[in-house]
Amino acid sequence: MSTIFSKIITREIPAHIVYEDDVVLAFLDIKPINKGHTLIIPKLHSEDGLACDAATMAHIIEVGQTIAHTLKATLPCDGINFIMNNGAAAGQEVFHTHLHVVPRHSGDNSFEHAKHVTYENGEAAGLAVTIKTSLA
Ligand code: AMP
Repeated sequence: MSTIFSKIITREIPAHIVYEDDVVLAFLDIKPINKGHTLIIPKLHSEDGLACDAATMAHIIEVGQTIAHTLKATLPCDGINFIMNNGAAAGQEVFHTHLHVVPRHSGDNSFEHAKHVTYENGEAAGLAVTIKTSLA
Protein backbone atom coordinates (compact mmCIF):
# COMPACT_ATOMS: atom_id res chain seq x y z
CA MET A 1 0.00 0.00 0.00
CA SER A 2 1.31 3.41 -0.95
CA THR A 3 1.01 6.47 1.26
CA ILE A 4 2.61 9.89 1.31
CA PHE A 5 5.36 8.38 3.48
CA SER A 6 6.24 5.82 0.75
CA LYS A 7 6.88 8.78 -1.53
CA ILE A 8 9.18 10.34 1.09
CA ILE A 9 11.13 7.06 1.28
CA THR A 10 11.56 6.99 -2.52
CA ARG A 11 12.30 10.75 -2.56
CA GLU A 12 9.34 11.41 -4.87
CA ILE A 13 8.36 14.17 -2.46
CA PRO A 14 10.77 16.18 -0.31
CA ALA A 15 11.15 16.02 3.45
CA HIS A 16 13.60 17.36 6.00
CA ILE A 17 15.34 14.06 6.73
CA VAL A 18 17.28 13.93 9.99
CA TYR A 19 18.30 10.27 10.10
CA GLU A 20 18.34 7.19 7.88
CA ASP A 21 19.57 3.62 8.07
CA ASP A 22 18.64 0.36 6.32
CA VAL A 23 15.43 -0.05 8.36
CA VAL A 24 14.06 3.43 9.17
CA LEU A 25 13.83 7.00 7.98
CA ALA A 26 13.29 9.99 10.30
CA PHE A 27 12.13 13.42 9.14
CA LEU A 28 10.50 16.57 10.47
CA ASP A 29 6.70 16.59 10.69
CA ILE A 30 5.19 19.05 8.19
CA LYS A 31 2.68 20.30 10.81
CA PRO A 32 4.77 20.22 13.99
CA ILE A 33 3.22 20.39 17.45
CA ASN A 34 6.49 22.03 18.46
CA LYS A 35 9.64 22.81 16.47
CA GLY A 36 11.74 19.68 16.03
CA HIS A 37 8.67 17.34 16.01
CA THR A 38 10.07 14.30 14.21
CA LEU A 39 8.51 11.21 12.64
CA ILE A 40 10.29 7.85 12.47
CA ILE A 41 8.99 5.39 9.90
CA PRO A 42 10.04 1.90 8.78
CA LYS A 43 11.17 1.67 5.15
CA LEU A 44 9.22 -1.56 4.75
CA HIS A 45 5.52 -0.69 4.66
CA SER A 46 3.24 -1.75 7.50
CA GLU A 47 -0.09 -0.08 8.12
CA ASP A 48 0.40 0.62 11.81
CA GLY A 49 2.30 -0.37 14.93
CA LEU A 50 0.19 -3.52 15.40
CA ALA A 51 0.98 -4.79 11.90
CA CYS A 52 4.68 -3.85 12.12
CA ASP A 53 7.03 -6.69 13.13
CA ALA A 54 8.38 -6.49 16.68
CA ALA A 55 12.06 -6.19 15.74
CA THR A 56 11.30 -3.19 13.53
CA MET A 57 9.18 -1.64 16.28
CA ALA A 58 12.09 -2.07 18.70
CA HIS A 59 14.41 -0.36 16.23
CA ILE A 60 11.96 2.51 15.73
CA ILE A 61 11.89 3.04 19.50
CA GLU A 62 15.69 2.83 19.74
CA VAL A 63 16.13 5.47 17.03
CA GLY A 64 13.36 7.57 18.63
CA GLN A 65 15.21 7.51 21.94
CA THR A 66 18.46 8.64 20.30
CA ILE A 67 16.67 11.45 18.45
CA ALA A 68 14.90 12.47 21.68
CA HIS A 69 18.28 12.83 23.45
CA THR A 70 19.54 14.93 20.56
CA LEU A 71 16.47 17.18 20.49
CA LYS A 72 16.60 17.67 24.25
CA ALA A 73 20.23 18.74 24.10
CA THR A 74 20.17 20.79 20.90
CA LEU A 75 16.81 22.61 20.73
CA PRO A 76 16.82 22.51 23.74
CA CYS A 77 13.54 21.27 25.22
CA ASP A 78 12.37 20.20 28.68
CA GLY A 79 10.57 16.95 27.82
CA ILE A 80 9.62 14.62 24.96
CA ASN A 81 6.39 12.78 24.05
CA PHE A 82 6.67 9.51 22.12
CA ILE A 83 3.31 9.03 20.39
CA MET A 84 2.08 6.35 18.00
CA ASN A 85 -1.49 6.49 16.70
CA ASN A 86 -2.68 3.08 15.52
CA GLY A 87 -5.96 3.04 13.59
CA ALA A 88 -8.32 5.83 12.54
CA ALA A 89 -10.11 5.63 15.91
CA ALA A 90 -6.78 6.43 17.57
CA GLY A 91 -6.24 9.48 15.39
CA GLN A 92 -4.03 7.88 12.74
CA GLU A 93 -4.19 9.78 9.45
CA VAL A 94 -1.28 8.32 7.50
CA PHE A 95 -1.52 4.53 7.32
CA HIS A 96 2.17 3.75 7.39
CA THR A 97 3.62 3.00 10.86
CA HIS A 98 5.19 6.08 12.42
CA LEU A 99 6.43 7.21 15.81
CA HIS A 100 6.02 10.88 16.72
CA VAL A 101 8.87 12.35 18.78
CA VAL A 102 7.46 15.61 20.12
CA PRO A 103 9.66 18.13 21.95
CA ARG A 104 7.91 19.76 24.91
CA HIS A 105 8.58 22.97 26.79
CA SER A 106 7.54 23.57 30.38
CA GLY A 107 4.01 25.04 30.39
CA ASP A 108 3.45 24.71 26.61
CA ASN A 109 0.10 22.92 27.26
CA SER A 110 0.28 21.26 23.84
CA PHE A 111 -2.10 18.48 24.92
CA GLU A 112 -4.16 20.35 27.51
CA HIS A 113 -7.53 19.18 26.16
CA ALA A 114 -6.99 15.42 26.72
CA LYS A 115 -10.14 13.92 28.26
CA HIS A 116 -10.21 11.27 30.95
CA VAL A 117 -12.75 8.65 31.98
CA THR A 118 -13.39 7.20 35.42
CA TYR A 119 -13.89 3.54 36.46
CA GLU A 120 -16.95 2.40 38.40
CA ASN A 121 -16.28 0.72 41.76
CA GLY A 122 -14.38 -2.54 41.18
CA GLU A 123 -14.32 -2.08 37.41
CA ALA A 124 -10.55 -1.46 37.16
CA ALA A 125 -9.77 -4.55 39.26
CA GLY A 126 -12.03 -6.70 37.05
CA LEU A 127 -10.56 -5.32 33.85
CA ALA A 128 -7.00 -5.88 35.11
CA VAL A 129 -7.86 -9.55 35.81
CA THR A 130 -9.38 -9.96 32.32
CA ILE A 131 -6.31 -8.48 30.62
CA LYS A 132 -3.86 -10.43 32.83
CA THR A 133 -5.72 -13.68 32.13
CA SER A 134 -5.74 -13.05 28.39
CA LEU A 135 -1.99 -12.33 28.44
CA ALA A 136 -1.15 -15.54 30.35
P1 AMP B 1 -0.98 10.57 12.43
O1 AMP B 1 -2.20 11.38 12.80
O2 AMP B 1 -0.36 9.90 13.63
O3 AMP B 1 -1.24 9.61 11.29
O4 AMP B 1 0.09 11.63 11.96
C1 AMP B 1 0.45 11.86 10.65
C2 AMP B 1 1.47 12.98 10.68
O5 AMP B 1 2.09 13.04 9.41
C3 AMP B 1 0.87 14.35 10.97
O6 AMP B 1 1.48 14.90 12.13
C4 AMP B 1 1.21 15.16 9.71
O7 AMP B 1 1.53 16.50 9.97
C5 AMP B 1 2.41 14.38 9.16
N1 AMP B 1 2.61 14.53 7.74
C6 AMP B 1 1.69 14.33 6.75
N2 AMP B 1 2.26 14.55 5.54
C7 AMP B 1 3.55 14.86 5.77
C8 AMP B 1 4.66 15.19 4.92
N3 AMP B 1 4.54 15.24 3.60
N4 AMP B 1 5.86 15.45 5.50
C9 AMP B 1 5.99 15.41 6.85
N5 AMP B 1 4.99 15.11 7.69
C10 AMP B 1 3.79 14.83 7.17
